[in-house]
Amino acid sequence: MNVMTAPVPLIGLAPDALKAALIAAGVPEKTAPMRTRQVWNWAYVHGLNDFARMSNLAKDFRLLMAERFSLARPEVVTEQISTDGTRKWLLRSGGQEFETVFIPEPGRGTLCVSSQVGCTLNCRFCHTGTQRLVRNLTPGEIVGQVMVARDALGDWPSGASPGKVETGFPSGGATRTNAGADRRITNVVMMGMGEPLYNFDNVKAALAIVADGDALAFSKRRVTLSTAGVVPMIPRAGAEIGSALAISLHAVRDEIRDVLVPLNKKYPLKELLDACRAYPGVSNARRITFEYVMLKDVNDSLADARQLVKLMSGIPAKINLIPFNPWPGAPYECSEWEEIEKFAEIVNRAGYASPVRTPRGRDIMAACGQLKSESLKQRASERLAQMRSAELQRMPS
Ligand code: SAH
Repeated sequence: MNVMTAPVPLIGLAPDALKAALIAAGVPEKTAPMRTRQVWNWAYVHGLNDFARMSNLAKDFRLLMAERFSLARPEVVTEQISTDGTRKWLLRSGGQEFETVFIPEPGRGTLCVSSQVGCTLNCRFCHTGTQRLVRNLTPGEIVGQVMVARDALGDWPSGASPGKVETGFPSGGATRTNAGADRRITNVVMMGMGEPLYNFDNVKAALAIVADGDALAFSKRRVTLSTAGVVPMIPRAGAEIGSALAISLHAVRDEIRDVLVPLNKKYPLKELLDACRAYPGVSNARRITFEYVMLKDVNDSLADARQLVKLMSGIPAKINLIPFNPWPGAPYECSEWEEIEKFAEIVNRAGYASPVRTPRGRDIMAACGQLKSESLKQRASERLAQMRSAELQRMPS
């Protein structure tokens, strides 16, 4: 395709940028605001990706749009469905692959979205951490993950699906059922591949569309951003994104956290917890979630549980205990179930809800920390195996 005429992707643009794109394509300034609202509505409320079906737009305008622009989402390379109903999509866009996971639960459904291809953080227990950072995802690729999932689950409010031909859509402005309890995806969590606060601008732009009442219309309380603790960005996340916050804590002493989450060497526990105390809008009704992966004989002692309770003092917190999800070559094991229960009891008795996160989608490598793009999986596990055998050789016999 000639580069000059390649359709310009519109998904992920802010309303102003969309308007500017329409004007650049010849839409008169006067009608541009209305056209912007119409296209926005078809794209994000109805989920259409085909301009020809935008029935309240003049034919000529539809043709112009189809010629110049695209509402394409990332391409679905594979879809895997776990025996527990969890679904994982391997997506491709801009020559890169990344993953999105849908976790259905009674009464709710959570979509776990990636922010980067690979990751720079190298957390010792995380599979994604064995893949180097390839690049940041664009706003279109981030919001596109939610749209792909809505396409695949038939989860657009008007029952639209991009491949289906329907007639009789409400003609624009029909957001009334958009955020309703009848949606299959009720929550969005930035807990897939990557560190969202290292891709701040793109995550912010994408979540603005996710939470826009005239777009994907998720309530900000149902959108959670999870960070390993990029302290200087936490106040900005609160002020500019305003979603719920989750912190990947995983250890209660700096010596251990330095190993598990190397970012801790830059931003140690005290600084991280101070930033949490100051997080805008945090209250008992809007608590910060602390994720804590249970690693056998590493961070799962009862002394650790008591220290965790101490650290939480003064922070409206929920504690999410995550049984470690294994991956090929992982250097850790999951704590024994009994240990997890004893740990949870101490935390519970101190007054913190501490649900143990049920591992979901382990059979399709969709559980926390197991995501990694297919193309790099093989190489990384080979690399790990080589490192291990080198380590073994160095050990005194
Ligand atoms: N970089 C962000 C987003 C990743 S979220 C962050 O660190 O928060 C993924 C969550 O799963 C994090 O809490 C991460 O620490 C956790 N996780 C990673 N690997 C895991 C594994 N193997 N088992 C269980 N949880 C894991």
